[in-house]
Amino acid sequence: MKKYKVGILGATGTVGQRFVQLLDGHPQFEITALAASDRSAGKPYIEACAWKLSGEIPKAVRDIEVSAIAPPLDCDIIFSSLPSTIARETEEAFARAGYPVISNSSSYRMDEDVPLLIPEINHEHVRLIDTQRQRRGFGRGFIVTNPNCAVASFAPPLAALHRRYRVESVAVTTMQAISGAGYPGVSSMDISDNVLPYIAGEEPKVETEAQKILGEFTDGSIRNADFSVSAQCFRVDVIDGHTASVRVNLRENPTLEDVVDAMKTFPVLNLHSSPTNFIEVLDEPSRPQPRLDRDNGHGMTITVGRIFPDNVFDYRFVALSHNTVRGAAGSAILNAELLIDKGII
Ligand code: NAP
Repeated sequence: MKKYKVGILGATGTVGQRFVQLLDGHPQFEITALAASDRSAGKPYIEACAWKLSGEIPKAVRDIEVSAIAPPLDCDIIFSSLPSTIARETEEAFARAGYPVISNSSSYRMDEDVPLLIPEINHEHVRLIDTQRQRRGFGRGFIVTNPNCAVASFAPPLAALHRRYRVESVAVTTMQAISGAGYPGVSSMDISDNVLPYIAGEEPKVETEAQKILGEFTDGSIRNADFSVSAQCFRVDVIDGHTASVRVNLRENPTLEDVVDAMKTFPVLNLHSSPTNFIEVLDEPSRPQPRLDRDNGHGMTITVGRIFPDNVFDYRFVALSHNTVRGAAGSAILNAELLIDKGII
């Protein structure tokens, strides 16, 4: 199998570390460049990075000297986990320099010529890349994105329902983990013994991204799905794993068994990082829980439970995903595998 050289922007951060961990031993990728801020540039990765994941920093990257976030870097593919404040300009510079840029940041997600991918749901949206290259004059480079980490938890079960029974409206309450705020993130005095009812900039993302993900690719562009989403986003005292409490109205009238079946039978892909179960439905009344279920499918499975008819909406359910794996680095790696599989990289 051909090995591609990859570079990580924001390599010392929460998502950057997850990239380093997930790429260790990956059959298609080898990390050859790590980049971060001026605070880190010029130092070996092991010195620049305050490693916060279990296990040691993989041997292969310890001594790589951290670069500044500017092209050229010695790699074929860029994974970006930069703060959105600097991602837009930096990612464009890399795409313009000919690199495929696979981004976690929100900067380009809603641009109409940029794919917002969950490969199991909308892999055909990669066809936007041709339009993007033409419009922006990118040559060989391009940008693709993965969704907001909270959206990643509930868009898959919503996709299962939308495909069969067409979603009309959604009310979602997210309970988001501390690691979603990066490092050092939220102060322990603020989050311990507490629930924070505000995450800056989060609700607009959660109210708009699923419609693009579930949109149809026609005539060279995406026609967004026509349902509305109302969102309230909370930060909770959990390290990893975003939970979403979802209530949904459908345009058709499936039975509870139909709803469960739509989720359980959603097709999976055959890529290296695809989980065996894209959506796993649990029957136990007290599941899903972040501590017990975030690592299902190596962090790439969406775990759903508490599916019931609702007194106000048609159905309700709870969905959970690992925010730095399925919600960030794992999804970006899956996107790269998809782009290779489709011959775009
Ligand atoms: P983080 O822990 O704060 O890490 C930020 C990274 O960006 C660090 O490597 C940092 O380098 C680098 N950086 C910061 N300012 C920089 C600058 N001016 N120039 C160059 N590099 C700079 O943040 P994170 O949680 O990993 O999030 C990264 C991105 O992924 C954000 O856009 C976030 O919204 C998105 N995202 C995060 C999650 C999640 O669960 N955390 C999920 C999905 C998407 P230094 O170490 O050198 O400062």
